[in-house]
Amino acid sequence: MTAMTSAASSSASSSARPLLNRRLAEFGTTVFAEMSALATATGAINLGQGFPDTDGPEQVREAAVRALRDGRGNQYPPGPGIPELRTAIAAHQSRRYGITLDPDREVLVTAGATEAIAASLLALVEPGDEVIALEPYYDSYAASIAMAGGTRVPVTLRPRDGAFRLDLDELRDAVTPRTRLLLLNTPHNPTGTVLTRAELTAIAELAVERDLLVVTDEVYEHLTFDDAEHIPLATLPGMRERTVTIGSAGKTFSFTGWKVGWVTAAPDLVTAARSAKQFLTYVSAGPFQYAVAEALRLPDSYFDAFRADMTTKRDLLAAGLTDAGFTVFRPRGTYFITTDVRPLGHDDGLAFCRTLPERCGVVAIPNAVFYDDREAGAPFVRFAFCKRPEVLADAVGRLRKAFAH
Ligand SMILES: *Cc1c(COP(=O)(O)O)cnc(C)c1O
Repeated sequence: MTAMTSAASSSASSSARPLLNRRLAEFGTTVFAEMSALATATGAINLGQGFPDTDGPEQVREAAVRALRDGRGNQYPPGPGIPELRTAIAAHQSRRYGITLDPDREVLVTAGATEAIAASLLALVEPGDEVIALEPYYDSYAASIAMAGGTRVPVTLRPRDGAFRLDLDELRDAVTPRTRLLLLNTPHNPTGTVLTRAELTAIAELAVERDLLVVTDEVYEHLTFDDAEHIPLATLPGMRERTVTIGSAGKTFSFTGWKVGWVTAAPDLVTAARSAKQFLTYVSAGPFQYAVAEALRLPDSYFDAFRADMTTKRDLLAAGLTDAGFTVFRPRGTYFITTDVRPLGHDDGLAFCRTLPERCGVVAIPNAVFYDDREAGAPFVRFAFCKRPEVLADAVGRLRKAFAH
């Protein structure tokens, strides 16, 4: 009796056991929160978090307003997403990549790519399964793998000839009998690497040989530069039936607050993802789904102009960072530039980013937070260039003044 009482009271006092469960214990607050708070406190230019500082096309915004006013999507939309959007997603994949999808069975609308990733992993990973992810990795991957009870196995992209490259032998060696799934991202955040056809072919052969599923995060599919080409993994031989492809309107149409994303895959994979998704959010973003359907039907000229605009911005920031003395890894995709701060006399990117706002009024993100192997990521720092040209020019001026001699 006494023992029971004391056991009950000690657990109620919460000192016996941490509140946050073991799966999530390693994910405290994200570095984005810390750096954005620093930006606010110091009035610095925030090139940390990757969101555009101008909204997407007026026509698409108006489509959302119309949907709201007309009462379309103000109540729970259908679980898999509204038919108009699923049809538009399928048409987009067909028009751009020649992928044929059944909008009813092979497309699932999600609350951003973030939910698409979480739902896919929660549905496909058993506790104890190994999930291989390219490192540095987008921060939600590690948390989603952990929530699914999976074991994260990073394969590190390493700098070679001015770019971060995947070592295919390392990838091959990382596969074990417990590997269930490869989690890819191309174009790759934060390094700006775009996987080539040769690399994707090797990955596809490995997936087929070892019977692996692949979840591929292609949210930057429309942001490739120079001669880089985005090739969806699902188009390669043997991959259509084992690949879950993830897209998002946030990055492509500059509406990151709308959180409209999607999964496209073979019917059984979509059904699996939907099984998890229905108990995460069930549905979301009703009126915005109508607007995104319209956005996806924009002519090629929209996508071309978007890419051209981001190319100019990349060049502006890359030139400024180079002048200031950073080593710049010129991105072939995404809207991020990864730099090496060692030429500036620093070898710890986290410490560098903590003092940067005070020092010159600019906020950046230390890539080390995207690594299990913190050492491998230590000297690298990421800057976002999805900002207005005058903002980038201001940031570049500040960096030059602080670092260039
Ligand atoms: C921004 C981003 C996401 C999240 O997309 P949402 O649609 O906002 O959820 C997923 N993956 C990568 C690589 C990203 O950069």
